[in-house]
Amino acid sequence: PCISICAGSGCVASGALEVIAAFKAEIEKQGLAATVDTKGTGCPGFCERGPVVVIYPEEICYLQVMPEDVPEIISQTVKEKKVVDRLLYVDPATGEKAVHEYDISFYRNQERNVICNNIKIDSKNIDDYLANGGYSALGEALGSMTPVEVLEEVKKANLRGRGGAGFPAGVKWEGSRNAPDPVKYVIVNADEGDPGAFMDRAVLEGNPHSVLEGLIIGGYAIGAQEGYIYVRHEYPLAVENITLAIQQAEACGLLGENIFGSGYNFRVFVNQGAGAFVCGESTALMTSIEGRAGEPRPKYVRSNVVGLWGHPTVLNNVETWANVPLIINKGADWFTSIGTESSKGTKIFSLVGKIANTGLVEVPMGISLRDIVFKIGGGIPGGKKFKAVQTGGPSGGCIPESLLDLPVGFDELTAAGSMMGSGGMIVMDEDTCMVDTARYFVKFLTDESCGKCVPCREGLRQMDNILTRITEGKGGEGDIELLEALAETAQEASLCALGKSAPNPFLSTLQYFRDEYEAHIKEKR
Ligand code: SF4
Repeated sequence: PCISICAGSGCVASGALEVIAAFKAEIEKQGLAATVDTKGTGCPGFCERGPVVVIYPEEICYLQVMPEDVPEIISQTVKEKKVVDRLLYVDPATGEKAVHEYDISFYRNQERNVICNNIKIDSKNIDDYLANGGYSALGEALGSMTPVEVLEEVKKANLRGRGGAGFPAGVKWEGSRNAPDPVKYVIVNADEGDPGAFMDRAVLEGNPHSVLEGLIIGGYAIGAQEGYIYVRHEYPLAVENITLAIQQAEACGLLGENIFGSGYNFRVFVNQGAGAFVCGESTALMTSIEGRAGEPRPKYVRSNVVGLWGHPTVLNNVETWANVPLIINKGADWFTSIGTESSKGTKIFSLVGKIANTGLVEVPMGISLRDIVFKIGGGIPGGKKFKAVQTGGPSGGCIPESLLDLPVGFDELTAAGSMMGSGGMIVMDEDTCMVDTARYFVKFLTDESCGKCVPCREGLRQMDNILTRITEGKGGEGDIELLEALAETAQEASLCALGKSAPNPFLSTLQYFRDEYEAHIKEKR
């Protein structure tokens, strides 16, 4: 038997390390060390109910396990193959108990391709990744595909970047590959800074080799010899696990000179960001790696042609890279069989806010917001009514109840006044003030603006001032129109995406909840 205990940051905060220690001690005490394996794994997603424990081969799932539960689990489940009833998940809607992960409604309606191995893999052990088919895609790419064939497969899959804009990764790669400069780079953007978002952290902590494997394949496809992983220093476990993964891959000959005897040489470096939100923007991130202040620069020439140190550079986020080995292993046709016409594959979201089941979810593109919030998320706690869901991070928009049946896709969310972003999803209930919500996000972006251009630096500050006075009951006639004018200027004249998209929370809440703005202003009069 093998006992998998989530050792991701969420479960660690709920006491997972103590649970792991208790399992190890009890196994030793009961003389089972030779036959029972215990491991700390990546995050399986149900953070609300951590620490999560799964016992193989029966795949019995226990939630909110405490150290004092461990002797009973060992004597009953591991030795006697009996289920400990009181540790099972009880479905609040039906009252039924779920023995396995896949019986739990939170998991049943997901399609987990990128994070399905998180609970099976000790993220600090490359052998576990290899035993689950790890690095087979790299072997396939380097052993029997040309770089152009790899590129064409990713293009055919229509893998759109999971970090924000949804630009087709294959097209980006092709631009770099075709650039005449022989020095090229690939970068993992792990500077996840959206409030409430933890998708990239969970993947990098839980299955770092999947990201590394995707990066090496991408480097091979475009002809890069070096890669960088830019990860925020507030993610110490992600930094630790990816650094260890690189060392292990080097020791196994999967990084360095002549990988798999193919003649391909590739090195990877970890670069820690210092927590500036704007460094998630591609040009600011590259400037930061170069050792200068992380400020965006104009994109007269795209960074896939003139990027890091002036060389062609492909930058994709963690989730995008982690999809690459799956595409090589299972093929572009498999990938495009999932999702909608224009958004293929799955998407990971961090589901937070006023929602019963907080956690990490992976769903097929095209699923409705209603299914995510109610079937997977379990609806709104405390019998409250759903009011809105904010997608796309602080620059995203708030989508009202009338659009809950909207299929989740890059273009559909943009058309609704929001965006996919990197996958933050914040649910709000009937008690949430939408003006205050808009003010919070505009304030966040005001604080995070690098200050390089006026429409963003000064425009957002003024928007924050006006929104604050409205929420304080001091708003007046003309305030909404002034906010609209400032929003339009920021959208049209800001240098980078931070400023251009910063008005989205205001504009979407005004579009769908204008009555709340008017009520605040009227109250004052
Ligand atoms: Fe800096 Fe904002 Fe201008 Fe972007 S839009 S360059 S964050 S001031």
